[in-house]
Amino acid sequence: MNIPQSNLPRVVIVGGGFAGINLVKRLANKNLQVVLIDKRNYHTFQPLLYQVSSSGLEPDSIAYPLRKIIKKHKTTFFRLAEVEQILPDKNEIITSIGHLTYDYLVIATGTKTNYFGNKAIESSSMPMKTVPQALDIRSLILQNFEKAAIADSKEEREAFLNFVIVGAGPTGVELAGAIAELKNNILPRDYHDLNPDDMHIHLLEGADRVLPPMSKHASKKAAKFLNKLGVKVHCNTFVKHYDGLTVTTNSDLTMESETLIWAAGVTGAPVQGLKADAVIAGANRYKVNQFNQVEDYANIFAVGDIALMTSEEYPKGHPQVAQPAIQQGELLGKNILRLIENKPLKPFVYKDKGSMATIGRNKAVVDLKHYKFGGFFAWFIWMFVHLMSLVGFRNRVIVLFNWTYNYINFDKAARLIIRPFKK
Ligand SMILES: Cc1cc2nc3c(=O)[nH]c(=O)nc-3n(C[C@H](O)[C@H](O)[C@H](O)COP(=O)(O)OP(=O)(O)OC[C@H]3O[C@@H](n4cnc5c(N)ncnc54)[C@H](O)[C@@H]3O)c2cc1C
Repeated sequence: MNIPQSNLPRVVIVGGGFAGINLVKRLANKNLQVVLIDKRNYHTFQPLLYQVSSSGLEPDSIAYPLRKIIKKHKTTFFRLAEVEQILPDKNEIITSIGHLTYDYLVIATGTKTNYFGNKAIESSSMPMKTVPQALDIRSLILQNFEKAAIADSKEEREAFLNFVIVGAGPTGVELAGAIAELKNNILPRDYHDLNPDDMHIHLLEGADRVLPPMSKHASKKAAKFLNKLGVKVHCNTFVKHYDGLTVTTNSDLTMESETLIWAAGVTGAPVQGLKADAVIAGANRYKVNQFNQVEDYANIFAVGDIALMTSEEYPKGHPQVAQPAIQQGELLGKNILRLIENKPLKPFVYKDKGSMATIGRNKAVVDLKHYKFGGFFAWFIWMFVHLMSLVGFRNRVIVLFNWTYNYINFDKAARLIIRPFKK
């Protein structure tokens, strides 16, 4: 892999997500050799993927080159590779570009889409975990509008204009709201040959309310906002089958749709090679102690979504959102330095800063520990927090410009089929 030999201890970090980049920043220019490995050469700001899917933002404003993050770190290296296996007895990993030994290994590989074993849904639906997938959704939505404009029959047109989103967690709710804004603001202006009333957005959720991870107050408000935007919400509804056209569910509800977006869940993306009981079955997450050490491995750590650390307050582990990943990455950085200096490690304590979701223009919900609210102020807070969390000054400026432009003009300007999606 062409990493120079040195006398410094080598820390290998697998994954440049929220956990990985916050860890790598903490280890900058210390007495360590750091190797960051990711199968992509950029960090993805996943919370705004839905805006790429719905033509609100260009993908380059939510992605950031990993090499740029480490450009001033003299002893840090980046390698574009997929890590395929860990050989813990040899302190070595096997990657798609070769082998590499480590003194400390940190696994920060996050999650992948969970289809719960349904192969038909996996092969016919649209996931939204990566930038290329978000671009595929954007292309498919716009291609469907074009196909609807030339459809021969009402049934055919309806299938192109029926959008089904499965999973009403924050991702599903945000995407449903954004697609509804395409229907309400863009279709009447750009597509004179289509009737916006023919377009339907269905949001399907297995639980009895939208936003199940948030408070009942937030669910109620979000359902009201979605209703106002024209999204049809179906709770207590599971998709049983999808063949690329017909959606069948556990209830009488069936419908024809060319687009089914799967936002119903994620599962961990562990790397092969550790003992079977290091990974918790079902969740596919590494069982870690309060220092993020993988059980039974003194020099292997896991951070972020892939780590499952239980505590009295979080008996099922921390939520798989950005804040635990950021906070664990930061603390592990300090702890690795403490380990090298033979100092005792500090345990991880999660500081919950609350949760939020936006449903559309002036519409969002925020759950803080002692205060829950929704509406314009919540939307403003949502925008501010997301803007400030984006990686890179340029990205923040571009996103702020786009949001301001879109807000004033009721527009979503990135309506481009750059790379047509083939089903
Ligand atoms: C659509 C969507 C919307 C979301 N919205 C929100 C939100 O609004 N608020 C919020 O707090 N959280 C949100 N989340 C969750 C949040 O993005 C995750 O909790 C967070 O990204 C976890 O960080 P991580 O570092 O653990 O993993 P990730 O950020 O997923 O990073 C993992 C990295 O590992 C790399 N990788 C994986 N396997 C390998 C391998 N074998 N070899 C090399 N590289 C590998 C990947 O390429 C990736 O760069 C959302 C997630 C999604 C998918």
